[in-house]
Amino acid sequence: MIIVMRSGATKAEIDHVVERLTERGYGANVSGSEVTVIGAIGVLDDDKAGLADQLTALPAVDKVMPVLKRYKLASREFQRERTVVVVRGVAIGDGSLTIMAGPCAVESAEQLLTVARAAKAAGAHVLRGGAYKPRTSPYDFQGMGREGLELLAAARDETGLPVVSEILDPHDVELCARYVDILQIGARNMQNYALLKEVGKSGHPVLLKRGGMYPTIENWMLCAEYILREGNRQVILCERGLPVTGGESATRNVLDISAVAVVHGTSHLPIVVDPSHGTGKAAYVASLALAAAAAGADGLIIEVHPDPERALSDGPQSITPAQFAELMARVRVVSAAVGAKAS
Ligand code: PEP
Ligand code: MN
Repeated sequence: MIIVMRSGATKAEIDHVVERLTERGYGANVSGSEVTVIGAIGVLDDDKAGLADQLTALPAVDKVMPVLKRYKLASREFQRERTVVVVRGVAIGDGSLTIMAGPCAVESAEQLLTVARAAKAAGAHVLRGGAYKPRTSPYDFQGMGREGLELLAAARDETGLPVVSEILDPHDVELCARYVDILQIGARNMQNYALLKEVGKSGHPVLLKRGGMYPTIENWMLCAEYILREGNRQVILCERGLPVTGGESATRNVLDISAVAVVHGTSHLPIVVDPSHGTGKAAYVASLALAAAAAGADGLIIEVHPDPERALSDGPQSITPAQFAELMARVRVVSAAVGAKAS
């Protein structure tokens, strides 16, 4: 439940409400600048009505509201301020557009470093690269595993770019967290609850892609809730397109740009957009990247490969370093035009 304080409530009055919650064993999340909002964490159903009455009786409390949405910790009602996730000095969700770029899969030191250096030079803020690849066919390249993680960490050491990489197995959380700065949960694993709980416990920043069996926004938020519930508040959402239904399509997925507006309206979590998986075609990546920037996304995640023709995964949707540099120049213009903070 959510406790809305009267405007002008003093720190002592706010602290008093927090104390009342903690003495009953509940957590409290204080947010808001003009009006303070206190999100009560873990209140038992049996306690809700009685506690709400007691708190409403306090003169500094304006109202006590139940959370109507099925997700709470991820909701804007619960926390008014936007969550800003900071990784190695790079802020995601602070009103700027954070650019994540790199190959779909780490293939070699040379391939990764070529992209990392080019991405950095073009102004990217975060390096992406998969070490564990969730492939449709077991005969396709499955990723370099631990060696790939080591290469990512080495590329980070050289360029200073923090790294994001997908984790597939809950048992790998500790290993992956040792090498990468943001743990990516892929679309296929959005509803892998065991994995969500483990990355939640790790306290490590998480990029949660939208997907799973029922990729509605509500289900996506509930998946974020699994991570937040473990005490990990460093969650970044990622829209990467929804499966095409109804037959043949010109794109691999349908990128839901409206998710940016919906998420910003209903959640405090940052949202980045992936135009590479969203379209599946290199020729369409720039248009959708620009559209996402115009919609006010907190970031973009783009696949870049030095030689897409020879890529071991997702070559058709990978752009070259030169195309990426060109795109970055256009993205900056759009981003500035819609009032995003410079980054
Ligand atoms: C990826 O980022 O390479 C990937 C596999 O993405 P998704 O989970 O969105 O398909
Ligand atoms: Mn990919």
